[in-house]
Amino acid sequence: MRLDTLAGNHALKRQLSAQAEGRGLSHAYLISGPAGSGKRTLARLLSAAFVCTGGGETPCGACPGCKKALAGIHPDIITIGDDGKDITVAQSRQIRSDAYIRPNEADRKVYVVQNAQTMNASAQNALLKLLEEGPAYAAFLLLTDNPAGVLPTIRSRCEALALSPVTQAQAEEVLLSRFPDRDPGQVRSAAADCGGLLGRAVAQLEGSQAGEEARQAAGTLFSFWAKGDELGMAQFCVSLEKWDREALTGLFDQAVTLLRDALALQTGAEAGGPPVVQALAQRPRKALLAAVGVLESLRSAAGFNVGAGHLCGALCAGLSQAGQ
Ligand SMILES: [Zn+2]
Repeated sequence: MRLDTLAGNHALKRQLSAQAEGRGLSHAYLISGPAGSGKRTLARLLSAAFVCTGGGETPCGACPGCKKALAGIHPDIITIGDDGKDITVAQSRQIRSDAYIRPNEADRKVYVVQNAQTMNASAQNALLKLLEEGPAYAAFLLLTDNPAGVLPTIRSRCEALALSPVTQAQAEEVLLSRFPDRDPGQVRSAAADCGGLLGRAVAQLEGSQAGEEARQAAGTLFSFWAKGDELGMAQFCVSLEKWDREALTGLFDQAVTLLRDALALQTGAEAGGPPVVQALAQRPRKALLAAVGVLESLRSAAGFNVGAGHLCGALCAGLSQAGQ
């Protein structure tokens, strides 16, 4: 099998490859491991392998089946338990009736049950019958960070795949190739801090990437504002309309920080700072305080389901008024 995108876990990969070349993959797996250990990565690879039509080593990654599976849009791969809520008995029964409808495009139908430990006993029992006597084309991938929360009867019907944390060197290798544009020092420190749980390091690096984008955008916005360039500011606000509310909230936070730094510079509490802060400090104190007010009200509006287009429009209008 081609399982390169899953880091580390060499013994488990050998076990699966030997199976795929020999008697074929099992019809049910219980994939366990702590959060960030690669359960979803492995489930995606196995799902793709089940629907792969490439004809060679699976998942080939290039056939239409693999492409749809890896993009999460294959009609014969059904995922439940990924919405943060407990899985109900109704959802288990729904899977049970769905499983008897033949696959759409592939030879197999794959059910991915994330957070399998959130099924109560009735929900697990509804699934058990399907694991025991379901149609031959159906395959099941149960994911959990707590295998003890899954009934022994279910566990005995599934082949266990336990993911282990990766070494720091393995984490570094994967992260450096996934984040080629980032400062290698930052990537290495994320690898060192994640305790072998790559998902954690990825979340940290993606989070700091969003923070960096917000910082840069706030700097650009306020360099227009500090110069009184209303047209530049309006055009920049339009470009922000494709950001989502969460990203805009990050930008508002960064913008408030810039303004507060400029206010501190004016009072002499701080000396120096980046050029945009120095330019802002040349503006009247009243204008800076008014801009802080605009951003703070937008930040609370962003918490109330206001669309990005409205937020960006209000940002432009509010800042231009504050600058008068
Ligand atoms: Zn394929």
